[in-house]
This record gives sequence, structure tokens and C-alpha cells, in this order.
Amino acid sequence: MNKTGFFYDERCFWHSTGLHVVTLPVGGWVQPPSGAAHAENPETKRRFKNLLDVSGLSSHLRNMSAAPASETDLLRVHEPHYLTRFKYLSDHGGGLLGDEAPLGPGSYEIASLSAGLACAAIEAVLNGECDQAYALSRPPGHHCLPDASMGFCFLANIPIAIERAKALQGVGKVAVIDWDVHHGNGTQHIYYQRGDVLTISLHQDGCFPAGYGGEMDTGCGEGAGANINIPLMAGAGNEAWLYAMDRIVLPALARFKPDLIIVACGYDASAIDPLGRMLLHSESYRSMTRKVQQAARALCSGRLVMVHEGGYSEAYVPFCGLAVMEQLSGIKTDVADPLLAFIEQQQPRDTFNRVQYALIDEYARNLQL
Ligand code: ZN
Repeated sequence: MNKTGFFYDERCFWHSTGLHVVTLPVGGWVQPPSGAAHAENPETKRRFKNLLDVSGLSSHLRNMSAAPASETDLLRVHEPHYLTRFKYLSDHGGGLLGDEAPLGPGSYEIASLSAGLACAAIEAVLNGECDQAYALSRPPGHHCLPDASMGFCFLANIPIAIERAKALQGVGKVAVIDWDVHHGNGTQHIYYQRGDVLTISLHQDGCFPAGYGGEMDTGCGEGAGANINIPLMAGAGNEAWLYAMDRIVLPALARFKPDLIIVACGYDASAIDPLGRMLLHSESYRSMTRKVQQAARALCSGRLVMVHEGGYSEAYVPFCGLAVMEQLSGIKTDVADPLLAFIEQQQPRDTFNRVQYALIDEYARNLQL
């Protein structure tokens, strides 16, 4: 049996984002919500872990916590003045640190732990302790810039973990595939001029953040050609996302030949996510995981790490996450996705798909894939 690591820590669920809701500007004509929490609240993550437990899958995983990322780890990616400001706000009751980045007391230490889970997952796969691993990191990281938080992200979890693995374990080329519905602008920014880290983002065109994520942004300097954006039309479903994987992501991985593959694993492209307008279901996530798993086996001895990003449907993130973990571990539980048929019947018709395929083909041609 293969060894699949699952890195999580209850303390990551204690990061507080307050009661402010993201989907509507409360006030004016908008009645404040009745007890509804911020979209990025612990429930989706906790229910995902709970379903792993009650389905019995957890007993087949190597469940571990990790040490927080150290200051040295954080400083490989972040500006000292930013970390000082973040720590100060965290020590003084919390507040708003950046664009859509509310935090509570102690969030600095929790975010360091969240990054530490990603570091430990990568370390375990590189040293052979695990064949593949998942880090249930919270808060997420893919929007975070070296000197600014945004979009619920306070530390760039994946870059922090990559840079630590490069410094301590000498890993060479790394590919990051970001299938969160929002653009992975932070990861793109950090590696835009680097040729040793390939960054690929599949996302809803023009969703968040505004002004990022165009297909013409392909990297510069040493990083020319090592940044790939695949903006998809709102409403894209299972077929279009899998087509993008086959037509662009897998050939780009084969061309780059990474030593490690990391997935920025968001679930907000699911059909019932409040912050995205896509139509994926749990089998989509299983299929995408299978594809990157096959690529990892062909290219880098199976070294694959998933790091949790977004996903805001309390009801549905657990089923999408379970499908990913079943595929990663090779163990199928008895759990049936109760929403699968409902979402399958809402998939776009062929006329939509043909337009979307043509756009993906155009991106691929521009990338010479
Ligand atoms: Zn997202």
C-alpha cells in the first residue's frame, strides 16, 4: 500500500475571519446576515476532515501535524516590514491587514502553522517518508504577495515550502498547478522571473483578483515561458476543465520535467460554491487528481503534494476533498456523493464546450503546446 500523508492541525481552524461576509456588501439596502460567518470560516475544512474520519479513510492515512514555519522560512519569501505589521496586528486583537484579509488574535502564529503544514508535507514526500501528501493548510496562501496579504491569504504557503525545500533538501525544478477558481496571483508574482518553478493557474476569467491572470502573462527574464494562465469562462464544467488539463497542463508538465509537483488545491470551482461560478463536481476533482498523479509518476517518481486553498461550500467541499484523498491514497470508501447527479445534469451543452475548447486551443498554440 502506498503511504499517503495528511497534514492538519486543529489550531488552523481557530484562525478567525470575523462576521464580515464577502459575497454582499452589508449595509445600505443589504440586511446584515443572521449569524452567518465569513466565507473563509473553518467549517468547510473541518467537515472535510470529519468526512475523512467517518468514512474510515483517515485510518489509512498518515495523519500528522507539523512545526510552524520558522522566521527564517518566512523571510525567504516575505518582506520583514510586512511580517512585523502582520505580527503586530495579530498581537493586538486582529483587524484588516489587506484587501479582503481580515484576521483575529493569534492569526500570525496560526498562519505560520498553516505554512508549516505545507513545508512538512513537501519534506515528507522528498525524503520518502510519504509517497504523496496533502496539507490541510488554513489560512490559504495563493493570493499572498511578499509584502501584502489579500484574498484571505496572509503567508504564501506554497512558495515558503518550496523555498525551504530548495534550501534544505536541494529540490530542483518544481511545478505548481493551481486549480482554485481564483487566480493564483501571489504564486505567479513570486516566481514570475524564475525558470526553476513552473506556475500554472486554471481559474475563472476575471473573478478575483481583478486585473490578474491573463493568458498573455507568461513570465519574464529567466522565467519567460514558466508562467501559464488558463482563464476559463464562467459556467465551465467537468469537460472543459479536463480538456484544459489534457491540452495544456499535462503537456506543459512533460515539457518542463519537474522534480516535484504541487497542486494548489482549491474547491471553489465546484458547482455550488458561493465565491465561484463554475460547474465542477467531486468526480472532476478525482479525475484532475488522477491526471496529475499519472504525470507525477511519469515525470518525478510520483512526488506529488496537494496544499489546500479555497472552497466555501460547507455541504460540498467534503465530498470533493474525499474524492481527492481517495484518488491520492488509492482507497475507495463507501461514501456516495449525494449531489453528483444533480450537478451532472447541469453541465454545459456541447455548444458552450466548443467555444471553451477553441479558447483553450488558442492558449495552447500561443504556448507552443
Ligand atoms: Zn479561491
